[in-house]
This record gives sequence, C-alpha cells and structure tokens, in this order.
Amino acid sequence: MANAKRKAARNPARKTARKTARKTARKTARKTARKTARKTARKTVRKPSARMGSRKDVYYFGDGKADGDGSQKALLGGKGANLAEMSRIGIPVPAGFTLTTEVCTYYYAHKKTYPKTLEAEIGANIAKIEKAMGKKLGDLGNPLLLSVRSGARESMPGMMDTVLNLGINDKVVEALAAKTGNPKFAWDSYRRFLQMYGSVVMGVEAHAHEHHDPYEVILDKAKAKASVADDSGLGEKALRWVVGEFKKLIRKRAGKAFPEDPIKQLYGAVNAVFNSWNNDRAKVYRQKYGIPAEWGTAVNVQAMVFGNTGNGSGTGVAFTRDPATGENVFYGEYLIDAQGEDVVAGVRTPKQVAQMAKDLPSSHRELLKIRKILEEHFRDVQDVEFTIEQGKLWMLQTRNGKRTGFAAVNIALDMVKERLITKEEAILRIPAEDLSHLLAPIFDPADERKATKIGSGLPAGPGAASGHIYFTADAAVAGAAKGQKVILTRQETSPEDLRGMIAAEGILTTRGGASSHAALVARQMGKVCICGAHDMNIDYAKKTLSGHGVTLKEGEYLSLNGFVGNVYIGDLKTSPSSVIQGLIENKAAARKSETYKKFVQLVGWADKLRRLEVRTNSDTPDQVKTAIKFGAEGIGLTRTEHMFFEGDRIDAVREMILAEDQKARAKALKKLLPYQKKDFVGIFTALDGRPATIRLLDPPLHEFIGTMTAAQISDLARKLEVKPDYIKHRITALHEENPMLGHRGCRLGIVYPEITRMQATAILEAAVAVQKKNIKVQPEIMVPLVSYSKELELQKAVIDEAAAEVRKKHGLKVGQLKYQVGTMIEIPRAALTADEIANHAAFFSFGTNDLTQTCLGLSRDDSSSFLPKYQDAEILSANPFASLDQTGVGQLVEMGVERGRRTKNKLKIGICGEHGGDPGSVKFCHRSGLNYVSCSPFRIPIAKLAAAQAVLEERGLARAEIS
Ligand code: PEP
Ligand code: MG
Repeated sequence: MANAKRKAARNPARKTARKTARKTARKTARKTARKTARKTARKTVRKPSARMGSRKDVYYFGDGKADGDGSQKALLGGKGANLAEMSRIGIPVPAGFTLTTEVCTYYYAHKKTYPKTLEAEIGANIAKIEKAMGKKLGDLGNPLLLSVRSGARESMPGMMDTVLNLGINDKVVEALAAKTGNPKFAWDSYRRFLQMYGSVVMGVEAHAHEHHDPYEVILDKAKAKASVADDSGLGEKALRWVVGEFKKLIRKRAGKAFPEDPIKQLYGAVNAVFNSWNNDRAKVYRQKYGIPAEWGTAVNVQAMVFGNTGNGSGTGVAFTRDPATGENVFYGEYLIDAQGEDVVAGVRTPKQVAQMAKDLPSSHRELLKIRKILEEHFRDVQDVEFTIEQGKLWMLQTRNGKRTGFAAVNIALDMVKERLITKEEAILRIPAEDLSHLLAPIFDPADERKATKIGSGLPAGPGAASGHIYFTADAAVAGAAKGQKVILTRQETSPEDLRGMIAAEGILTTRGGASSHAALVARQMGKVCICGAHDMNIDYAKKTLSGHGVTLKEGEYLSLNGFVGNVYIGDLKTSPSSVIQGLIENKAAARKSETYKKFVQLVGWADKLRRLEVRTNSDTPDQVKTAIKFGAEGIGLTRTEHMFFEGDRIDAVREMILAEDQKARAKALKKLLPYQKKDFVGIFTALDGRPATIRLLDPPLHEFIGTMTAAQISDLARKLEVKPDYIKHRITALHEENPMLGHRGCRLGIVYPEITRMQATAILEAAVAVQKKNIKVQPEIMVPLVSYSKELELQKAVIDEAAAEVRKKHGLKVGQLKYQVGTMIEIPRAALTADEIANHAAFFSFGTNDLTQTCLGLSRDDSSSFLPKYQDAEILSANPFASLDQTGVGQLVEMGVERGRRTKNKLKIGICGEHGGDPGSVKFCHRSGLNYVSCSPFRIPIAKLAAAQAVLEERGLARAEIS
C-alpha cells in the first residue's frame, strides 16, 4: 500500500482523482458534521427538561439513530459516545445502550445501588434493541444475546471487565442451535459465556495455590478426550460436557447456581463492570495516566454479533494508519471464524487485514470505505473493531488510535498536509511528552551489525532497549528496584503485567500481533516493544528464553530493536536518535530523515504560537550549547555550586566552608574567584547575547563536607597544612540535623557576605571580559532561598558594591556594565510577602522544588519510600516533585505573581524548578502569567510544545482526546 501511494503520487491523473475524492469526502464529512451539529442543537433544547424532570441514565444507539453523540464522552464514556456517533452517521453498529458514568458515580455514592428509575429505562431500551435486531432476549425462537462492556471517558484497555454472550441458558442454547443450524456454535457460545460470567461476575477463578485456571483444566480434559489440540476442535458433544462441568464448578465454588434468567444475568454483569472500576489493575492504570477516580465508567450493553459462525464470518481490529510509525496504510489484523477476544488475546496469530481482500472481498471493500469515512469524520486516526457475521459487516467500536511519539508527530503533520486538520489541531494532537520518544537513543549501527540475532517479531514499539530478562512482572519490578535495566519477557502480556511493563525498558512477547495487549500498552507508554516473536520460545518453568539455537537464563542481557523487531543477545551500545544527530551533532544525513524534518517543523510552529519564553537550566558551557541547539532562549538557572565539583576546586570550596574566620575564608575565596570567572566567561560566550540567570551559592553545606571520607579528610588536611582532627572538628561544628532547612541559600551570604561579593565579582568580571570580545551579556544575579525582603535588600547591596568596584577598576560607566538582581521564590513566606520582596527584585524565579518541599512539608530527598503508597491510595495523582501540585503549591505561585506585580507591574517572572519541563506544569505557568519556564536542555522541545498548546487551550481549543 505504501508503494501504491508513492506510485500514485507520481501519477498526476490519479493525484487529481484522489484530490477530488478527498474534497468530496471532506465536503460530505463537513455536511454530516453540520447535520449532526444541527441535530445535537435540537436535542440539547430537549435535554434540560428531561434532566430536570426525571433522570436519564440510559442512552440508546443503533439503527441509524442515537440518543447521544460523540461529544458526550464525559457522560457516555469514549466507547459509548463513539458508538452513538457512528450510528448517527450511518455506520452499521449492532444496536445497544449506554448506562452513563453518572450511574457509576451514583452506584458508588449509594452503597452500590441504582437510581429507582433505572430498571424501567433498561427495560424500554432492551425492547428497542430487540426491535432493531429482530431478536428477543431469552426468546426460544430467535434469541438475542448481549455483550456488557466497560467504557470510561479515556480508554483503559483491558483494565476493566467484560461479559459476552449474555442471555444464554439451558433452553436458549437449544433455540440458538436450532435457529442457526449450528449446534457447535451455540454450545461454544454457552461455554464461553459460563467461563466469563463465572469468573467475572461470580468470582470463580483460580485459587492462589492453583497453577492452572480451573476452566482451562476442564477444557484440557475435553480436548484430551477428543484428541484435539485446539478449543476450536471440540464438537457439540464435547462442548455439552464442558458446559455441564463448568456449571458444576461454578455451583461448587460460588456456593450458588449460575442464574438462568437473562435479566438476572444482565444485572450481575452490569454490577461486575461497575465494580471493576475499582479493581487493582484499573487503579494502577489510573494512577499512571492521571485519570481521576471520580470519573467512573459507563457500561455499554449491546447486541452480540458473531464472527465465529463459519468461514464467511470473522472479526478483527485495525488502525486507519500504522500506529507505530504513522505511515498512511490501513493496518490491522483479523481472524476468520473467531470472536473478538481471540484477536486481541494474542493466542491465535491473526492475518494481515490486506489478506481480507482475498478471503472476504466485499466486506473488505466496505471496510475500506468505512476507514475513509471514519478518518474524515473524526479527523484523526481511528482504532476500530469489526465483526463480519455471515457476510454482514458490523463496526463494534471506533476510537482515536493510541500511537507512539513517532506516529503522533508523523500523523499530525501528514494530516495537515492532507488538509484534514489545521496546524493548531496538529499541535494539540501531539502529547508534549511524546516528543521525548523522538529523542530516545537508537542502537549504535556498528554494534548492531556485529550482534547475534536470536529472534524477530513485530516492531510494536519503536526505540532501542537493552536489559536483564525477567519472565514475570514481579521479577521485572524487583530487578528494576535493584537499579537494573530490565526487559519483561512473556509469551503474551495481560493487564496483570502492567507494573512489570512500567518497570521495564522494553517488552518482548513470543505470541500475539500488533494489536495484542503488549503492543497496545507499550505503544502508549512509549516503551520499546517487540511482540509475536514466534521463532523464540519461553519456558516459564525453567526460566529460559531460546531462539536460533541459543538459550538465555533469567537475568541475562538481551537487546531489542523496536524499530525493526530484531532481538539480540547482550547489552548493545546505543547511539543518539536522528533528531539528536541532526540537531545537536549537526549530521547532514540525519537532517534528511523524515523524523528530523517533521520535528523541526513542529517546533517551529510551536515557536510561532507560544507566549512563554523557554530557557534552560544549565551549569556548563557545553550544556548551554546543547540547550541553544534545542532552541533555548537563555539560561533560567545556573547552579553555581555545581561548578565546584570539577577538578581540585572542591578543595578550595571545602577550605572556604571549613574556614573558622574571615581571614581563612578570604584566602579560600581568592582561590575560587578565577575558577568562577572562567566558568562565567564560557557561559556568556556560549549564550551569545542571551540572558543568563546565575544563582548565588545555595546548597546545604553537608553536600560538600558531610560525605567526606577519611582519606579525603587526610588529603585535604595535608593540602591545608592542618591536622585531620582539626578538619573533623570543623565538620562536627558545622553539622546540622536538618540541612535542607539549615544554613543554606542566602543565609550563607547574609552570614558570610564575602562569598556573595566574590561570586558577584566573578560574574561581572566575566561579563566585562566577554563584552570586550563584542559579545552582548545580560547577567541576572539571583539570590536563593529568600524569606524576608531584608535578606534580598542586604544581598543586593553587596552585589551593587561589587559591581561598583568592577566598574571602577575597568573605568566603566553605569550603562556600560548592566546587570539585574532578582530572587528565587521558593519559601512560602516569600510568596506571601512577594509585594515587599519585589521592591528589591528585578525578577522572580519560582524554585518549585523547594517550594513544593516547604509547602507540603515533604522532603524532596526522602519521600520516595512512601510516595508510591500515596499514589496507590490515590491521595496523590502524581509525584508533586515531577508535576506541580497546582491546587496547593500552585496557589503560592499565583499569589507570588499577583503580589509581586502589585509592586512592579512589569516584573519578569519565571520558574526554574523541575516542573519547568513538565507539560501540565508548563501550561499552569502560562495560565498564571509567567514570562518564562526554564528546564533541562532535553526537555526544551517538550516545554515549547506544551507552551504552544497552552495558548491554543486558552483560545478555547480543547486538546484533541487521544482515547
Ligand atoms: C528549586 O528549589 O526549585 C530550585 C530550582 O533550586 P534547587 O533545586 O537547586 O534547590
Ligand atoms: Mg531551591
């Protein structure tokens, strides 16, 4: 298909034809959208009275009609809203109804009960489904079967429960057999239903001590008796036996019989799905993706259609474009004579959807048409599920497809070219964090050529990853906790493996296709993933992985190339991505790559839109150079103490800290001044005229002296010509119980103004030296950890004095050596008294690392042991040191901005805590009216994209939901 596209591009006639087709399609899509909008408008007029009077908890869809529409994801969940939308635009969907997320909230708020009116609503809607499908629930002539599925606002693949084939009982199964003339199908559906209902609704699952699923044990017995290898080989008689055994198993373990009444079955399944909103897996998933617990899930009850009714039937999943690379090809898989879960479970290996053109040609043609309609209607890549029941195609689901960072960029920019979306929409479509995928390393080509390949599979998650192999999620988590890089290696993954997948660098499965659980989840996490490596074999009992005659044991090294799907032994060297090679290493070949070109184009668009300036946190000239290549507009934070660890400077620093009197300190400072000056010359030169916020010495002193070993102490004693005991005595004298809240920040400069003087002199001497080379300099001297305006006032006086001396020494007038003095706002008191502090500050920079630490009373160094528990318990939805606590710390930021600008209305304000590179926090900074964010060099493109998105969101454009 890719080839065809390229060929067509060379053929002008075909090009015009495609253009006209696109134009017409766009017109039709717009028309349909307008029609839908009109319909929705008419409906919304009716809605309020309906909601004010009696409740509406059930929304019907099917038969070209729907109560709801695609815009109602919050109420109907993603799946329900899109089913309604598909039905409205005439796509064939089996009739059904959605129980809203409000029912879920009600259920949890009212001791797991439902609104009184619900039963009647459900009854009326079942009647509608029966009418649309021409079948009846529990009927012995033409029975209707139902599926019951979850559907949250954002999709949570596989995390909640599903029940299929609902409505069968001992009588209905016979009716189904008679009606379809296919008793094997009827009894197979019954056994599938019992298996799902028994485990999901009645809780009959493998006991902790059991190694095997009890249903599988029964199925295995049946297969052995019938001498067949697959479930599909079981005939009617064997299946009748299995059904009997399943029922016995359920009665024995659940202590009650499986309910024969279809309505009872339905309520059981609906309860189970609502309950699964709070299962362990769903909670972990919500935590990882920041989905609030209050959202709740909707439940979709829908007529079953069957892909397992012979060779004219089938089922599949597809993406309207390749979700790993973004290439514009229809990308999917299907199985003949199968039900949906057979495709995603990864047990049977499906065929490529292109093959359907031969197997089921008319359904394939129809599917291609629907692909086009859906992409043009939803104006984004769709991830669809479909079933063909004896030649009739049904669409079961559509949603915006999850994609890798590579695909997100490729698809969004291609769609702009295709005029399907605008540049602004493209910017909103790409989760800013995803740009980090494009910066991730690739294998060093030379190393990869030499490596021993032991298998290959589908490249489901691009990138390069190496690590120790582990065969269970728990082992992978334990390996990662020891600091190892790990590769989770499984025959196939299931939602139970989520924690292991999060902990892993890469994921390898030996079964399943590009739409298997492993592929979907890895893609979304941006993990390197290879799935369906059929030429490899895992032996869980022996804990080995083998392929191409080589066997690896648990813990041995493996490398995965997720771009092409190759698996290698060993720990391969990685090299930078094409974006890094093009941008940072100036390599011409890399600059020709599609990814590089699109990356640069996208960042260019973001630059034009954003209002926030993006600066960098950099401490060395090299870091500054890298940051500028990424597009940094200056330095937002140079931590001067980070320069002190180089070479033997640390000795002079320690000498300064340990000095007992001013004279000794002055001697040490004199040694440090030339080092500092040299550093600042390098930084100003690299900045080439851009502003530089340089922070005065800040850190807790224990970082310099608390960790000294005996050998370092005697070495320093020798150099300083003192006794080791003297140094030990000084270390003891300077010891602090709580150094983070101790003698650090400007408190050092207040007690020892000579330190501030030395640093200011070094900065300004460097400025003079660089100015002489005709390079503009903009020094911004920043005073850390200020709580009282007087602290800043005193420190500013010292800096101004030093500046006067430097000017005098070089015969410069005030205008010939300019600088600014500002402060960090990183203590709550500073935010509260920002109006007073602003009197002495030319700028503010929020130090949100310390501001979070002090606002929350939560140590930034010690909290990692209990924060995960807080996230598990959903007290915190994210780590507050990574993602700004907008409701708490955010208030201090807003207050600091408002009060600071009350005194100086044009006060320049930025942020230099770690949050400056976190997309959500960047958007918050935009909304709070900051002038800039500052982050590490590699986060700059991410911050820029988030800053552009903030502008668009402010204009009322919502982020396109990638659900
Ligand atoms: C901060 O506290 O946010 C900050 C940038 O300073 P540091 O991390 O160096 O304490
Ligand atoms: Mg700080």
